[in-house]
Amino acid sequence: MTTLPNCPECNSEYTYEDGSMLVCPMCAHEWVAGEENNVEEEKVYRDSNGNILQDGDTVTVIKDLKVKGSSSVLKMGTRVKNIRLVDGDHNIDCKIDGFGAMKLKSEFVKKI
Ligand SMILES: [Zn+2]
Repeated sequence: MTTLPNCPECNSEYTYEDGSMLVCPMCAHEWVAGEENNVEEEKVYRDSNGNILQDGDTVTVIKDLKVKGSSSVLKMGTRVKNIRLVDGDHNIDCKIDGFGAMKLKSEFVKKI
């Protein structure tokens, strides 16, 4: 059983489903389920300063980062060109000269 949302007009809890619509018997308001909070959330990626990152941005690394599976360290200040934002824990896909394809966390970079 799913709980129906309260009426967005009068906040009555006696709403019921009528086909794809929700109906409030108290004020006769009808609406489409889910429409009352239909704000599409677009995923936003921010750098360490809170600036919004976009595909193709150039960033620098703000601290020395160990490279997974190797003994090399990605030095603070390393410039990373043409980043690609992806979903996940490491949300930046990029290629770094001398390192190849890598994934970084947006919190460890700064947009330049
Ligand atoms: Zn109502």
